[in-house]
Amino acid sequence: MISTTVAFAAWQRRSICLASKPFILMMLAIAGYATVAAMEAAAILLREKIFWSKLEYVGSGSVITLFLIFAMQFTNKNRWLTPRNTALLWAIPTFNVILVATNEWHGLVWSGFLPDPKGSNFVIYQHNLGFFWIMACVYLYTLTGVVMLIQKALVPSVLSRRQSSMALAGAVLPILGASLYMLRLTPPGLNITPMSFMLAGLFYFVSLFRFRMFDLVPVARDTLIENMSDGVLVLDAQNRIIDFNPALKHLIGVKKQHIGQPAAQVLAKWPEIIRLYHTHESVKTEIFINSVTPCYVELLITSLHNKRKQLTGRLLVLRDITQRYQTQSELRQANEYLQKQVLEIQTLQVQLREQAIRDGLTGLFNGRYFDEIFPKELVRGTRDSERVALIMMDIDYFKKINDTFGHQAGDRVIQVFADLLRYYSDTNSQNIVCRYGGEEFVLALPGLTQEKAFQHAEHIRLSFQAARLESRGKEIYTTVSGGVAVFPDHGKTTDELLQVVDQALYAAKLDGRNCIKCVQSN
Ligand code: GH3
Ligand code: MG
Ligand code: MG
Repeated sequence: MISTTVAFAAWQRRSICLASKPFILMMLAIAGYATVAAMEAAAILLREKIFWSKLEYVGSGSVITLFLIFAMQFTNKNRWLTPRNTALLWAIPTFNVILVATNEWHGLVWSGFLPDPKGSNFVIYQHNLGFFWIMACVYLYTLTGVVMLIQKALVPSVLSRRQSSMALAGAVLPILGASLYMLRLTPPGLNITPMSFMLAGLFYFVSLFRFRMFDLVPVARDTLIENMSDGVLVLDAQNRIIDFNPALKHLIGVKKQHIGQPAAQVLAKWPEIIRLYHTHESVKTEIFINSVTPCYVELLITSLHNKRKQLTGRLLVLRDITQRYQTQSELRQANEYLQKQVLEIQTLQVQLREQAIRDGLTGLFNGRYFDEIFPKELVRGTRDSERVALIMMDIDYFKKINDTFGHQAGDRVIQVFADLLRYYSDTNSQNIVCRYGGEEFVLALPGLTQEKAFQHAEHIRLSFQAARLESRGKEIYTTVSGGVAVFPDHGKTTDELLQVVDQALYAAKLDGRNCIKCVQSN
């Protein structure tokens, strides 16, 4: 009844644990085994007793096989349970049942049956070699399962140790029961093995309800934590190490013998981690760990509390993010490099543009720029109904300066004249001053009347005349001639204006140079 109840309770929770199926079947087999044993004890005729005894071997064979399968699944060794191995596990008890069933023919299990000298209803079975072979099988199966459960109980994992211990106690009892019977320490003829299995069932019953054996899904949890690539470290309330997984061992070299030791001592090489769990309830951060292989780690610390909100320990999860970190920093570097290059390109573009529109000798705009900008200036002038004055100036007898003083002196004269133009034209940022070519210059002065533009040109002319330049101890006499035209009065297009202003300049040259001529309005 106890075993059946436990089986039923486990059946209701069967979805939670892998090992619950063989467990339920084992408990049912125990119930069957116990029932048959009771029938054997109750039977009076020897013939009947022998019949029930034979059936008992079906029960015990099933119980030990199911116990072994249960132990394997509970300790997460189910990969051994291939169909072939499962069939093999069942083959031995099946053979034993056949051996017992055919005892009349060979007498290998029981060689004889004696009535109890005390006159009770028990029959004393005289055991032969076959019986000891069967018992050896029982021991082998049960011990194998027990060893697995012991291993499980010793694995450092707080979650399943209590459950393993309970399952372990449940496993030891049948061994004890069978041994007592074998060593004839029980009343003669009384096989207490089924009873001990029943007691074992009670233990499982307790672990099922008291310690919620299947609820915590220890198998799945252990597998998960053992195989996780993240390092897991569990500390108790006093910050002693109580559990860790293989990944953590690889990450920071924590070993089995460190269990129970203060984390501050084991992790002394990483004061950063110690500081973090001391100062934070829970924290997620990235740290650098200089371990066997230096690595970047994402550290997640979580405080564990019981129902009464008391601190019971800490959970530390360390994730190796070196790869991610490296990729990120490589990306960052590549980005920085790219940004630098983009900046360089932008600077170069500005420089190129400057070079394209500036004259190298004087720093003034060049003719190309004038041709590009002046038409736009005219469009703007039209839109704003504003005049745009155009002055063209050409240094007089420049060839002679070159011939007399040399090309370098000529260059200097050009530079001096350019400085003068800049000096007089900087008053308005909209003024455009260009070296149009050679020693020929154009100025676009928005908003100036012809009168004003003429005065402007005169100032420049007079200043240039007054400039005192020397070369090879001789003074260079410098004069300039100019022409003035105004948009829209003297022309509507760049070409028209350039043509008329050039004519005015030519007129100034004809008139003896060192003078400014205006285009005559018709
Ligand atoms: P005009 O009074 O009629 O203008 O006479 P000019 O001698 O100035 O005549 P023209 O305009 O024909 O001569 C310009 C000379 O300027 C020709 C060329 O050798 C010289 N020249 C042009 N560009 C440069 C330059 O960048 N540097 C120097 N040193 N000379 C230049
Ligand atoms: Mg000239
Ligand atoms: Mg010229």
